[in-house]
Amino acid sequence: MSRDKDERGPECILCGKCLSACPLVEATGQEELAPRSKVRLADFLQEQPGTLDEQDAARLASLCLGCGRCARVCAQGLEPARTVAGLRAAHPGWRQWLWKQWIDRASTLWPLARRSGGMLDRAPLRSLARRPEPGRLGLLLKSLQGLDRCPMRAYVSLREAPEPMEVLARSGVDAQAPDVAGGWPGPSIQSGADLAQGVLLFSGCAGQHLRPEWDAKARSLLVALGWRRTHAEFACCGSTLGTAGLLAEQHTARERNLEIWRAGGRGLVVAYCASCLNGLWAYVQEPELFVDGREAALWRERVVPLARLLKFGRFMVSDDAPEVAGYHRPCHVCGADHDAALLRTVLGSRLRELPDRCCGFGGPLRLADPALADAVARRRVADLAGLPQVLTGCTACALQLAASAPEQTTTGHWLDIFS
Ligand code: SF4
Ligand code: SF4
Repeated sequence: MSRDKDERGPECILCGKCLSACPLVEATGQEELAPRSKVRLADFLQEQPGTLDEQDAARLASLCLGCGRCARVCAQGLEPARTVAGLRAAHPGWRQWLWKQWIDRASTLWPLARRSGGMLDRAPLRSLARRPEPGRLGLLLKSLQGLDRCPMRAYVSLREAPEPMEVLARSGVDAQAPDVAGGWPGPSIQSGADLAQGVLLFSGCAGQHLRPEWDAKARSLLVALGWRRTHAEFACCGSTLGTAGLLAEQHTARERNLEIWRAGGRGLVVAYCASCLNGLWAYVQEPELFVDGREAALWRERVVPLARLLKFGRFMVSDDAPEVAGYHRPCHVCGADHDAALLRTVLGSRLRELPDRCCGFGGPLRLADPALADAVARRRVADLAGLPQVLTGCTACALQLAASAPEQTTTGHWLDIFS
């Protein structure tokens, strides 16, 4: 059913600002892939449903990385990636089904995929993935190989860290007890020193099922900082489900995570993946998930990046550390980049921040059009020339960089360099 224009809210004014922000347009020069084309497609399908066949609609809806760069520049406040998610929800296809299995069954499929990637990462299959035109099979092998490639050596150790209360004060995290007049369900709210007594670590799908070593490092660092971790079995943050158009599944994952947070006393949720953090903060866009606006604001405040707490420590870099380490800023960094701030503190002049570009991970786009995702990845890879090492703060970017980096460049999450 078509909606009146008035009901739709702001409309695309074709200003073109999003064109230069979109990695797909940058990599291909094709304007039909641009954010504004997606917004117009969604409007068109709403005004004239049924004029485009189901397959074409699903195909067009699949061509987005979900990076969110366009929303950051759009003067109209449009979010084309969310529009695309709506299109994907309205026109589901086999790729969406496959992505759902990939997330739902992560505990069995992901470790299996990692082992397969390790086995495939040897000649002659390895060379297939390294061809200039790797083809569909080569691209699949390339992605799988990235899941198991982690040759990075730890060379940073934490020497000293301030007390958690001092870290809270210096990091600007509000430790005050919120006003709960009117009553909220669940245990009493933690405040002040209590916040350090029950930190919930948000591992994310990759930390839980693919790279448990990242999770182990994050746990050790929290202990070293003097925080006490309460075990929590969070679900997926929901962002990758939403990007794939699996909106009901995203809602369920969000509800579960909020229940765990409430049961834990609404304390700090600490995460080490920029995409997970972005996905968790986005819960406030669904106000019905929360008891009221104050609870939503508290959630936004209490979900914090691990690097925001860690950067007040004192660190030692061993003599055999690489002279230069690149830093890839993930598309999903929202506001201040605490990972970059931590690495500047730790690595000083060794750190080289790369031009702001997407890695090409793209979630469901990898299934829909692996060659298009690879075209984006190649632009990022060109920036890595001559760098012995590249770090990032997003688990998806870390996997994508591992799959596409030149052989002489090791890549990983910044957690990898901490001993
Ligand atoms: S979310 Fe990223 S890939 Fe998708 S339209 Fe926007 S800028 Fe382009
Ligand atoms: S920036 Fe926003 S308003 Fe301008 S063309 Fe892109 S989607 Fe349309």
